Amino acid sequence: MKPIIGISGGHLIDQGGRFPGYKRSYVNDNYIQSVIAAGGVPYIIPVNDEEEVIREQVLNVNGLILSGGDDVFPQFYGEEPLEKLGGVFPERDIFDSRLIKFALELRKPIFAICRGIQILNVTFGGTLYQDLSYIDNCTIKHDQYSRSDLSTHTVTFSSESRLYKIFGDSTRVNSFHHQAIKDVAPGFRVAAVAKDGVIEAIEKEGDDYVVAVQWHPEMLAHKDPLMLTLFKTFVAEADKKKSVSI
Ligand code: MN
Repeated sequence: MKPIIGISGGHLIDQGGRFPGYKRSYVNDNYIQSVIAAGGVPYIIPVNDEEEVIREQVLNVNGLILSGGDDVFPQFYGEEPLEKLGGVFPERDIFDSRLIKFALELRKPIFAICRGIQILNVTFGGTLYQDLSYIDNCTIKHDQYSRSDLSTHTVTFSSESRLYKIFGDSTRVNSFHHQAIKDVAPGFRVAAVAKDGVIEAIEKEGDDYVVAVQWHPEMLAHKDPLMLTLFKTFVAEADKKKSVSI
């Protein structure tokens, strides 16, 4: 049996058509294809508000991917909304935080992407910049207006990180974010930074596999072998934990 990888879902809300405002649970297909290419079996974990259901959703997977999406509600890290905050979806923040809490409690590996790194950091007590323009000397274009599978800016890895074992000193990544980590959550270390100092990856200290990146490896995995290795490494961790009883 291949490991089962749960991918946190979001809502697509119809803007017109027959049912304006109608919600659909979804994830982008790139996540599905990357998990399959890495040897896992993907399942969408739909957003919901039932804590016991969320716990069982996590119990039923071997690893958790936190997918991209809206900005995190700033009240969750103690700030008022600033001018350049994007769209928020606080119900999903609560859902994702519960997924994270249960995944850690049940010792399931976590791989967080884009919004995922942000909600992960906030869940463990870190903070965010609500917009990159609020960072001094943030000079690199982090929200590229180029195709999704084009890697544009460089990231440099810390030699102590898990990611260093995959990428070495540095690699180039795509970039579609307007926020970034401010204070790193206690118990986490910075694993990668861009050339302007913006945090691009964090990892949990200790043995639990909790790796988070600010870029979108799922959009690159079909053409960049190291991005596929990033997924394979996570899926292999999920496979290892499969037999561990809780
Ligand atoms: Mn970036």
